[in-house]
Amino acid sequence: MAKRTYLVFLGVPGAGKGTQAQLLAQALEIPQISTGDIFRYNLKHETELGLLAKSYMERGELVPDAVTVRMVAERLGQPDAAQGAILDGFPRNLAQAQALDGMTAPHGGVAAVPLIRVSDEEALRRITGRRVCRTCGAVYHVEFNPPRRPGLCDLDGGELYQREDDRPETVRNRLYVYYKQTSPLIGYYFCKGLLVEIDGAQTIQAVQAELRAVLERKGVQVPQTEGTP
Ligand code: ADP
Ligand code: ADP
Repeated sequence: MAKRTYLVFLGVPGAGKGTQAQLLAQALEIPQISTGDIFRYNLKHETELGLLAKSYMERGELVPDAVTVRMVAERLGQPDAAQGAILDGFPRNLAQAQALDGMTAPHGGVAAVPLIRVSDEEALRRITGRRVCRTCGAVYHVEFNPPRRPGLCDLDGGELYQREDDRPETVRNRLYVYYKQTSPLIGYYFCKGLLVEIDGAQTIQAVQAELRAVLERKGVQVPQTEGTP
């Protein structure tokens, strides 16, 4: 079977995973798959999956693995992911990482795992100012990455809102869950020789440039695109 490119982004909530994954996905022409975005879409449309995920998301806990893994398996099977995908927000614990290994093994496995490093203080600043488009999910920051017109999405004019779980009470628990359940994946992927560390405390463009440079060294070719940093 042909080899596909699967990348996994790691980093604390607010590190910039979604922002970087989106830019890279455009260049690689593979989809960015954000489990958080899929859950939020289902929440908005009040699907069964959305109702199931709701209480976990409100508390900043992980949605149960059985649900999350099945959802990712289905998403990876869709035609637009035939060449691979960038996973952002998945896996978030060892069981999910092992499930992903199983799904990707027939296609060459995970190619590389960028870890975006920022301090907890910086992550909190980024989360506090994060705003998301209600219609398309595009991500902005009131100070660091503002839209052209305040409160409105550059792409479709949609209203920008603050995620419920970006409020301080929930953010603390999400950081706790990250350190307890997700951070062991750093060691897991390091031992597999897949981890690449990126300094996230730079401008969005500079992080993207560093990301592309380290991926090239891992054998992931990133075509030059318009707007390439
Ligand atoms: P952030 O980018 O700030 O880390 P996400 O959008 O990735 O946040 O996730 C928001 C919430 O969605 C999580 O707190 C969790 O409740 C749920 N979630 C997202 N991805 C997963 C996953 N892989 N496993 C379990 N729950 C998840
Ligand atoms: P994650 O997916 O890791 O939770 P996001 O990509 O949603 O993180 O970014 C969190 C917030 O920080 C967003 O408001 C985003 O616009 C902003 N942001 C992302 N990267 C940077 C950066 N390099 N410098 C400043 N702000 C950033």
